[in-house]
Amino acid sequence: MFEQHLKHTQTCSACPSLCQSVCPVHVNTGNKSFAPWGMMQLLQGVAEKDVPFSPEVAAVSYSCTTCRACVEQCEHEVPIPSILEDIRNMAVKEGKAPEEIQGFLEKFHRHNNPFSKDLLQRLKTLVPEEILSKNTSVVYYATCTSITKCPEIVQDTFSLFKKLKIDFVSLYADPIQCCGYPLYSAGAHYDFVDLAEINYHSLKKYKLIVTGSPACAWTLKEMYAKYDFDLSGKVVTINEFLKPYLKNINFKVKRNIRTKLMYHDPCYLSRYLNEADLPREMISGVSGYAPIEFHDNHAHSQCSGQGGCYSIVNKKSADEITKKRLNEVYEKKVKTVVSQCPTCIFKMRQNSSGLIVRDVISYLNDSIQGTVDE
Ligand code: SF4
Ligand code: SF4
Repeated sequence: MFEQHLKHTQTCSACPSLCQSVCPVHVNTGNKSFAPWGMMQLLQGVAEKDVPFSPEVAAVSYSCTTCRACVEQCEHEVPIPSILEDIRNMAVKEGKAPEEIQGFLEKFHRHNNPFSKDLLQRLKTLVPEEILSKNTSVVYYATCTSITKCPEIVQDTFSLFKKLKIDFVSLYADPIQCCGYPLYSAGAHYDFVDLAEINYHSLKKYKLIVTGSPACAWTLKEMYAKYDFDLSGKVVTINEFLKPYLKNINFKVKRNIRTKLMYHDPCYLSRYLNEADLPREMISGVSGYAPIEFHDNHAHSQCSGQGGCYSIVNKKSADEITKKRLNEVYEKKVKTVVSQCPTCIFKMRQNSSGLIVRDVISYLNDSIQGTVDE
């Protein structure tokens, strides 16, 4: 495992750590051991048998939010997050993963989601029964984080569909469980494949799968295909799905909508899926104003600190990264942040004071009154 990445660890060894300034973990901790360069040095030591693969070494592989900021910066395109995910896989297999990860995996397996909740029961409380039971070829795949932590995203999505007269989408519920991304990220790759197989066989009958979270979209589109569960031609983000409707339908915008807001790019949307412009176009198409930008934006955006299981092992640091990201919002005297990842949104709410944090779809639903013929 370590040997197969030797080429990359050697590339990093010869580099003056050019990506450390964009790594949220390094910036927050100030510890070079947690910069991509430092982690690759350690892994090279293991590959060359100078350092044993101990639980302490395994723990270092979880010092990463998998945000891909370093990949964006690196002229050699060293795939740091993928390398670390391989090491995490080895850590789980050898029982060397941190106890927080082992506890997380046990919790996950109770209901096949990270929150150990019965998601179907939750969904039944969120939307009218007909949205769950409608027989359609197009389904909305609600992420488990939205269902449990930001349920208004699911409700606002169907409210917006109704306002735009989109009546041919049902809420996927058979069986509703996590897409498996957190399992993969934690290093439980075999368990991820088992879950992906079940989801694939349930989802493949649909013509279109509309996803409410970029991490789910990327997992269903890209990760499943890697294991021969190819749904890539059927999976779209909610933005891709809504784009033609917002372009072609004449809709009325409410009076007094929020126009002064900042948009935070989720890593999985802007870097993994390369979809940074579309949410901005949707916001400005409704409000008439471009969102105010963070200093680092689009593919060079800063991570909120909460991805890639980093917060499971390093909660304090993850929350500090989120707070630092939000400092710019206070400095610019803006009161509303809009984003499109339920984890970013939930954690920004937890780590802020006096801010309104909304999903793009909730913002559109807040702003759109209905079609002009109503
Ligand atoms: S990932 Fe790229 S930029 Fe970062 S230390 Fe390695 S070679 Fe340098
Ligand atoms: S993926 Fe993000 S958190 Fe991980 S090493 Fe690269 S920049 Fe740092």
